[in-house]
Amino acid sequence: MHSDLWVEEKFSDFLGLKFKVENVLFSGKSEFQTVDVVETKGHGKMLLNDGLIMVTERDEFAYHDMITHVPLFVHPEPKNVLVIGGGDGGTAREVLRHASVEKCTMVEIDAMVVDACRAHIPQTAKDLDHPKMNLIIGDGVEFVKNTLDKFDVIIVDSTDPIGPAQPLFGKEFYQDVYNCLADDGIVVSQGESSWYALDIQQSLLSVLNQVFTQSYLYSFSNLTYPGGLWSFTFATKKHHPINDFNQQRVIDSGLEFDYYNHQLHSAAFALPSFVKKGLKGLISNS
Ligand code: SAM
Repeated sequence: MHSDLWVEEKFSDFLGLKFKVENVLFSGKSEFQTVDVVETKGHGKMLLNDGLIMVTERDEFAYHDMITHVPLFVHPEPKNVLVIGGGDGGTAREVLRHASVEKCTMVEIDAMVVDACRAHIPQTAKDLDHPKMNLIIGDGVEFVKNTLDKFDVIIVDSTDPIGPAQPLFGKEFYQDVYNCLADDGIVVSQGESSWYALDIQQSLLSVLNQVFTQSYLYSFSNLTYPGGLWSFTFATKKHHPINDFNQQRVIDSGLEFDYYNHQLHSAAFALPSFVKKGLKGLISNS
């Protein structure tokens, strides 16, 4: 037990977030990033990559619910799902709850993240050995370029556009994503903060607009990302995120959630005016 230890995410050169640490559970450096798992006071266990907060036990359900259940309840019958990144396992855990899913392929570049979460954060990593899981340690950029598989939903659960994640925000990657999506496929991506990264959202959405005919942004709130309001992009070959959403499917699924629900599904696409103005012409829900 440490007397006065804190972890501080230095989000930018003018903003930091501090969390009281009770114990350091893992600290390592892979070829891609530093990987730390700490036991915090008040937010449970926390994973950090390169000092940036990835997940905490206390609020990870918000992110993993919204990145997963919005696309999987819009697609009429998601059977084959691909997760790019997602090393903590939380997105895969939520994907595997859908009865229609026959296979969840997860391509995570850094084995150290998977191993650290398997060892110290079973809450998110618990289904990584599920019989329907196909876990690949590799670069998502290469995977989508080379796979012959077709996916109903692709979820890009990546870190911010730095280091190995940078190409995951580029046009070549999304052209390859488009090619390995089914004819009615949907891709949802970690879409950053409208408060602090509207420029990144603008560039990601302008990439998506070059590849897809429909691109949207939806948001959710969580505790441990700066500003507390975070977003996902939703690009689709066919299904509209609200018009083609049948809320009865959520009710009939019998699934219980701690963040997602069928009312919030549609409400998440209603955006603050500063976001609509900032993304005008780049999203179909502006
Ligand atoms: N929820 C977190 C967030 O919003 O930042 C992200 C969760 S997960 C920990 C992000 C993962 O993306 C990391 O484990 C990282 O190693 C992985 N990643 C980054 N670039 C990648 C790439 N090119 N291919 C596959 N995985 C990648």
